[in-house]
Amino acid sequence: MRIAVLSRNPNLYSTKRLVEAGQARGHQVDIIDTMLCYMDITKSRPVVRYEGAELPYYDAVIPRIGASVTFYGTSVVRQFEMMGTFSVNESVAISRSRDKLRSLQLLARKGVGLPRTGFASKSTNTKDLIKTVGGAPLVIKLLEGTQGIGVVLAENDKSAESIIQAFMGLKANILVQEFIEEAGGADIRCFVVGDKVVAAMKRQGAEGEFRSNLHRGGSATLVKLSKEERATAVTAAKVMGLGMCGVDLLQSNSGPVVMEVNSTPGLEGIENATGKDVAGLVFAHIEKNAKPFRTKTRGKG
Ligand code: ADP
Repeated sequence: MRIAVLSRNPNLYSTKRLVEAGQARGHQVDIIDTMLCYMDITKSRPVVRYEGAELPYYDAVIPRIGASVTFYGTSVVRQFEMMGTFSVNESVAISRSRDKLRSLQLLARKGVGLPRTGFASKSTNTKDLIKTVGGAPLVIKLLEGTQGIGVVLAENDKSAESIIQAFMGLKANILVQEFIEEAGGADIRCFVVGDKVVAAMKRQGAEGEFRSNLHRGGSATLVKLSKEERATAVTAAKVMGLGMCGVDLLQSNSGPVVMEVNSTPGLEGIENATGKDVAGLVFAHIEKNAKPFRTKTRGKG
């Protein structure tokens, strides 16, 4: 098959591994920089143009759309879908996953386990908001944060109140979440492809750190998932409508809870921790599901 990896950076581990794995399985794999794609969206025969010429027809695309370019990136993915190209992650599902609150609301509606989470835009009822999610200790998160930056632990109600008010004073969008203390500074990244968890790792924060992000000095090890953890990750991916994603779980006393679903999960950490050919499994999914010229977007927007 002819397959495009939509990525801005050909030197990233994930991009390189996808190209390598696709070629190893006999596919022709091109790297296309999403931001350099342009198109006439009013043409009845949809095409994508790139570097002065029309792109050939791709049987499938693997979108690796960075959070900062979601809007344009998903428009390009949508154009490929209009051409009948199979996208491992559909444009609507990527947009959906980029809105943390919307994602949590959708997951909650489908009964997926979540930490108790609240959000508000005005600081008038801060005390009640804190009470609503069960009181301190609480985790307060900037909605726009990544890699653990903007994730703060408030040990008591008083400090929770002042942190919430400080963030709100800066007009930052935040969510207030029950602190899952029993997770012990660790979380589990489940890499889901199709309807399976193909690899999973446990990330443990550095000594004295409740955030397990590898960028913050955390370390990753192989983990064997319980049935319930596996089912939670698969359901979360399905609710979000993502064909490939990273589902981050915390092990709480009442079972696994989903913290986040990432539509551009990195391959380096998970392949190194598990020794699995995760990139190859993404192509196995494409081989099974891509039906050239027959893609219909399933998501509703
Ligand atoms: P980011 O998207 O910036 O990485 P996360 O929401 O994933 O932010 O939080 C960073 C880390 O903080 C997580 O990997 C986890 O280890 C820890 N963490 C986040 N939320 C909670 C929580 N409610 N209870 C316990 N630990 C948490």
